[in-house]
Amino acid sequence: MSFTVPTTHSAPILAATHIDARQQTVPAEGSPFPRLIEHFHTGTGIPAVLNTSLNSGGEPIVESPEQALAFLFSTSTDALVINHAVILKEDQLDTVDTIVIGGGIAGLLTALRLARSGQHVALVEADRLGSGATCANHGMLHSGALYARRHGHIVRHCQQAHPAFSALLGTAELPTEDAVYILPPTEAVEFLFHLDTHGITHHQLTPDDVPELRRSVTTTHVLITVRERVFSSRRIIATLAAQCLAAGVTILTGNAIDRITHSAGRVTGVILGAVEHVPAASVVIAAGTGTPELLTRIASRHRQLLKSRLDMMVHLPAARFRRGLIFAALDPPIVMPAPGGGALSSFFGGVQPEIAGRRDFPVDVIKAPLLLREMDQVLTPGTIDPGRASAYVAGKTDYVGTIHAENGVVNPGCHVIDHTQGDNLRGLYTVITGKMTLGFHASKDVTDTILGTDTPLLIEPQEPTAIPTGLLAVEPWAPPTRI
Ligand SMILES: Cc1cc2nc3c(=O)[nH]c(=O)nc-3n(C[C@H](O)[C@H](O)[C@H](O)COP(=O)(O)OP(=O)(O)OC[C@H]3O[C@@H](n4cnc5c(N)ncnc54)[C@H](O)[C@@H]3O)c2cc1C
Repeated sequence: MSFTVPTTHSAPILAATHIDARQQTVPAEGSPFPRLIEHFHTGTGIPAVLNTSLNSGGEPIVESPEQALAFLFSTSTDALVINHAVILKEDQLDTVDTIVIGGGIAGLLTALRLARSGQHVALVEADRLGSGATCANHGMLHSGALYARRHGHIVRHCQQAHPAFSALLGTAELPTEDAVYILPPTEAVEFLFHLDTHGITHHQLTPDDVPELRRSVTTTHVLITVRERVFSSRRIIATLAAQCLAAGVTILTGNAIDRITHSAGRVTGVILGAVEHVPAASVVIAAGTGTPELLTRIASRHRQLLKSRLDMMVHLPAARFRRGLIFAALDPPIVMPAPGGGALSSFFGGVQPEIAGRRDFPVDVIKAPLLLREMDQVLTPGTIDPGRASAYVAGKTDYVGTIHAENGVVNPGCHVIDHTQGDNLRGLYTVITGKMTLGFHASKDVTDTILGTDTPLLIEPQEPTAIPTGLLAVEPWAPPTRI
């Protein structure tokens, strides 16, 4: 089928209006083309794309990835897409306003905010998106109850985070019931006082309401329910990555930033991999356990205010937990339903060994059986199957430079360092989330510092762009998959 196009309308689609161009239609379902055409329409106002042979004038048609790459670099083509890979030319990074280092919740939310504010942002992730603490955590969107007694300053932030997560990341939430806090009677009065002070809704339960706990626990403790929401962290990462792509963020995975470059007191960019310099006006470090190393390389005075620690988690695939169980004193276990079934358990707080670097963390082979034994002592027999449990460790970096210390050293809140102060370096910012829950606050604070604005905490979703699953980390407990 062909169309007659009035000459007044031919200019926008000049390439498709020659003497024998034919119209092709695509099926509404089962192929990526309708979404591609929709996006092209939104961006350009033209509801059609040109399907043409891939070759330059007088050359044979491209038949292999190698020939396609040669075509990309020998023509003025902007980008090449082969299956799930998007290949860009290096000079497209030359126009970057801000480089964000790290593809965890802090980096992705920061990149998204900056891109929505009109910046050209490149996000560089050493591994896959989410491969740091973000895909390895409990997925708990804190109500604030856990912090009401000792860290009251972050409770309001936790409460403000809830509408922000619902607006943008609601589809990542797991269907769970209210969590049960388990307290010795001597601590219950103080705990309830702080919940009331912060306006955290709670209800008391009877021993019969919590059959998953042994009677020896339920009859000697006070049992209180609080709405603690649980999210699939991997789904959070997938959603954020798709929103970032839709907002025009350039995402590079499998590329570590070696160091930040600067000259005359101003950031000039980063060294990507071993040698490649990528220029940028601003750089945001959101690299979790990779952050201290990057700060060491620029001899930052803030380095000593960061501490990376190791947390051990046990995954119980056979357990059926419909809600979280939280022993609200330090050290006993905390159990949360896991995405895909089963449960995740760790010791709450307690001593977490300090670490250096971003990978190859040691596994404490004593701690996992200890945790399993503690759970066995409090859970009704048969609730978990220790024979099918697996343990892993994950590192996180906290800011320890404020008075809000946990166990004497850690501030669980989020923190932004503007390196103009202390290091006399303009254009460099470090962001520490403290908790996944505080990702919206951390990214807002760093964005507002860079742009000198006051952006809303909430980020509205846009029509997302599909994201290849190969770019996303898998949870540490997920069964091995073939790639
Ligand atoms: C076991 C455990 C359980 C937790 N449970 C919860 C919970 O239930 N609820 C909650 O709110 N919080 C929880 N947290 C805390 C939460 O996970 C973290 O605060 C949050 O995920 C940190 O996000 P981030 O983006 O700052 O860092 P990360 O997720 O660690 O991301 C940093 C990224 O930077 C990349 N990177 C590092 N160096 C470089 C480099 N040089 N170049 C390029 N990329 C680099 C890494 O590969 C990584 O992907 C938990 C943490 C742990 C460890």
